[in-house]
Amino acid sequence: MGRLDGKVALITGAALDRGQGACEARLFAREGATVVLTDVQRDAGRATAAAIGERASYRDLDVTDAAAWSAVVAETIERHGRIDVLVNNAGVWHTGGILDTTPEDYRRVVEINQTGVFLGMRAVAPFMRDQGSGSIVNISSAAGLRGDPAIHAYVASKWAVRGMTKAAALELAPFGVRVNSVHPGLIQTPMSATEFEPGKPDPGARIPMRRVGQPEEVAELVCFLASDASAYITGAEIAIDGAVTV
Ligand code: NAD
Repeated sequence: MGRLDGKVALITGAALDRGQGACEARLFAREGATVVLTDVQRDAGRATAAAIGERASYRDLDVTDAAAWSAVVAETIERHGRIDVLVNNAGVWHTGGILDTTPEDYRRVVEINQTGVFLGMRAVAPFMRDQGSGSIVNISSAAGLRGDPAIHAYVASKWAVRGMTKAAALELAPFGVRVNSVHPGLIQTPMSATEFEPGKPDPGARIPMRRVGQPEEVAELVCFLASDASAYITGAEIAIDGAVTV
């Protein structure tokens, strides 16, 4: 028995082999789910889905594009009959405080990290409401739990995801649809690759647990929130950060 037997899941930003979205897709498929991987990096996304096998497929989806969301969700329902899980994982990193973030950069980060999450929830919510069940997992960040002067736009977008999660959880709770946010600390993925360049100090040294996290560890938490094992958890914010925000 898999933890996600019979469920249909859509994951954004799932193209990159060592990214969190791809790790979630691999674990979901192992646990019995049918998984639709989406991203803006088509070649990588197709390769990742093909390596997972017949339970996985890839579709292009720029999370800032409302029409693309409608099309991918409609196709998922048509092909698989339902949609049980949405993982809003796609995101971009941006460094800069207020003094060195341009309005264009700020809007781009908010458009992908925040508006993309809104559009995703908006696209799946009517189907999950009508089904009477569903689990939406929004990937925020430790930067959505505290301030950081070096990453202003990123902090703004990730705090927004935390708040939107709670508002959506309250709105959708009467329909049996759960919405939770996950707040990773430093996780070793393509996004954080510069932290691991040769000659740089060990990034794990500044973390209370003395190590960074791995995408497989985040995938375990997301799988739990996607599964019926977390049936009474909604509106929660869960840190997975080696105690960095404690
Ligand atoms: P990653 O860069 O490896 O993966 C992000 C994916 O999002 C990429 O495949 C990219 O192509 C995709 N993407 C970017 N813009 C997109 C768009 N407009 N539409 C669709 N897809 C788009 O990063 P990751 O570390 O796997 O990050 C996953 C999530 O975790 C992100 O939301 C990130 O902000 C968050 N996060 C990461 C860390 C970390 O340390 N890596 C820490 C906290 C939170």
